[in-house]
Amino acid sequence: MYPIDVTITKIIEETPSTRTFVFDRNFDEAIAGQFVMVWIRGVDEIPMGLSSKNSITVQKVGDATEKMFALKEGDTLGIRGPFGKGFTLPDKDEKILLIAGGVGTVPLALLAEYASSTGVCMSTILGARNADELLFVDHFTSCGELHLTTDDGSAHRCGFVTDILAETDIKAYDRIYTCGPEMMMKAIFGMLEKEDALEKTEFSLHRYFKCGIGVCGACCMDKKGLRVCKDGPVFNGLQLIDSEFGNYMRGPSGNKKQF
Ligand SMILES: Cc1cc2nc3c(=O)[nH]c(=O)nc-3n(C[C@H](O)[C@H](O)[C@H](O)COP(=O)(O)OP(=O)(O)OC[C@H]3O[C@@H](n4cnc5c(N)ncnc54)[C@H](O)[C@@H]3O)c2cc1C
Repeated sequence: MYPIDVTITKIIEETPSTRTFVFDRNFDEAIAGQFVMVWIRGVDEIPMGLSSKNSITVQKVGDATEKMFALKEGDTLGIRGPFGKGFTLPDKDEKILLIAGGVGTVPLALLAEYASSTGVCMSTILGARNADELLFVDHFTSCGELHLTTDDGSAHRCGFVTDILAETDIKAYDRIYTCGPEMMMKAIFGMLEKEDALEKTEFSLHRYFKCGIGVCGACCMDKKGLRVCKDGPVFNGLQLIDSEFGNYMRGPSGNKKQF
């Protein structure tokens, strides 16, 4: 339960707001979609998905992530985990669809690595605010189709990942995986519910955590009380029916917040 000390060996600037921190320890046991708790000394401990077995990819949004951006190669971090429920790994003969938005691309990049190494056929719909913020595009090119969208039309298709999804033959896929802003995933949820495809879809949620191990209750979701850190962060679509997902968020102390 104590954080393991890791040393940053390499820092890669992926986009203007996102950096990858490679460290000197492999978390080989991690399944795509699981997360680690990252202890940034003097500031906070925050959840992060693994972008590879020995890296995290961080978007600068507030105090802790800003402090991370000040770190240099040779500095250390504390890591607990991996924790939580990851994605159900596809069988070799299954056809899968990945739908990623913004920094939600991180856990899907690790899933794509698995799919490529096992010969699973994968198509991807990848979206970002603008051309500069498109993340890990080269991770998704090994098999199947790759569709790219930008909100502002600065590259590729102008619009949202849901525009491409609306033109996609959902029945052609055995499994669908998604991670991104919750409002994006809520729109995807609505589309797939109409297609009766929630059962084959998994959603990876980014919500506030404190403990990361299912004790503090900060990430409990109405109505069933599912804990995002322990019962998730990856949920099957059926689990999210009639829940707070997409309807309201939680603040740091678990209080309800509107999107
Ligand atoms: C399972 C999981 C995996 C994650 N993986 C990644 C990842 O791979 N890369 C990455 O960059 N981020 C990831 N996040 C989000 C990351 O934990 C937050 O961005 C981080 O905690 C923000 O800390 P801060 O102190 O910099 O910002 P704060 O000052 O705490 O917050 C800044 C802003 O970000 C929002 N915010 C804070 N924490 C979260 C959160 N957990 N979810 C959604 N919004 C939040 C706040 O509402 C506020 O608007 C993940 C979150 C979870 C739960």
